[in-house]
Amino acid sequence: MAVKVAQEWLNACSGCEIAIVDMGERLLDVLGLVEFVHSPVLMDHKYFGQLGDGKHIDIPEAVVGLVSGGVRNEEHLEVLREMREKCKVLIALGTCATHGGIPALANSYTTAEITGRVYSTETTDVPEAVPADHLPALLDACYALDEQVTVDVYLPGCPPHPDQIFAALTALLTGAPLELPAKSVCDHCPTVRQGKGQIKELRRFLQPPQYARPDEPLDKMRCILEQGMLCMGPVTRAGCGGDKITPRCISARVPCRGCYGPVKHEGNQRLDMLNALASNGVDIKSLPESVSLLRFSGAHKMLRPARKQ
Ligand code: SF4
Ligand code: SF4
Ligand code: SF4
Repeated sequence: MAVKVAQEWLNACSGCEIAIVDMGERLLDVLGLVEFVHSPVLMDHKYFGQLGDGKHIDIPEAVVGLVSGGVRNEEHLEVLREMREKCKVLIALGTCATHGGIPALANSYTTAEITGRVYSTETTDVPEAVPADHLPALLDACYALDEQVTVDVYLPGCPPHPDQIFAALTALLTGAPLELPAKSVCDHCPTVRQGKGQIKELRRFLQPPQYARPDEPLDKMRCILEQGMLCMGPVTRAGCGGDKITPRCISARVPCRGCYGPVKHEGNQRLDMLNALASNGVDIKSLPESVSLLRFSGAHKMLRPARKQ
């Protein structure tokens, strides 16, 4: 019998849903095993009844619930709670859902500062008022799903690699064990490392790292971090290469920006990266743009202590 699946997107960009489609022909294998009972990206299922006559939000019961995006406003929170109630297994899909992701960078500022900037400082609207009618109120911060409800499965990545989504879904649908990489991006990186303590200062990624020829294999190129560019491979969870293993950005000779989040779910990616840089001899005070450079480490859990009240 087909397994019922519900899907929702909250404070999301839809990249995670595109990653589902990017499973390609394997999606047909998955669709043969599931029945989507709710999915705003795929079907016209309304929250308050098809005619809008319901009094409470109503998502059909499902075995598997997929939720992308963090929780930024009251509507997100209501939808998430309903998904939690109706789905036996809740999957946090993507780094926005697992850690807050890029939108949680806003957690460096108060809601008043954000709305003031958007609606007053640079707006052309008159009067300078924050629209409130018929709009869900913002929460005080952007939250990861597990700060609001219990999450059963975490699939980080911005977006998660389609190979991992396929592996996770087929494991859940067939009852097979689900194993996700537990190491760091560096552990899956083929570049050449010559040892710690050799970086004296970091430079921005404005020129590519040095390598001999475009067709030179990656295992001949020196580690991008050791070449003096901020690469967050040491503190970022592996897996973005999917079945091919080699990290995606490194394959393109681009530094890792940390999009898979910390190696351990509760780890502090920003602090770990600063430690990694310090142990390489980099003077942290020489990094005026350190906060913005470590952009994917901007998960709310790390930013919140620094929030201005
Ligand atoms: S994790 Fe990345 S791709 Fe997924 S919703 Fe967030 S920003 Fe978009
Ligand atoms: S720091 Fe970056 S380039 Fe160096 S080994 Fe780690 S992932 Fe590869
Ligand atoms: S190399 Fe880093 S930033 Fe690039 S896809 Fe992998 S985890 Fe994300």
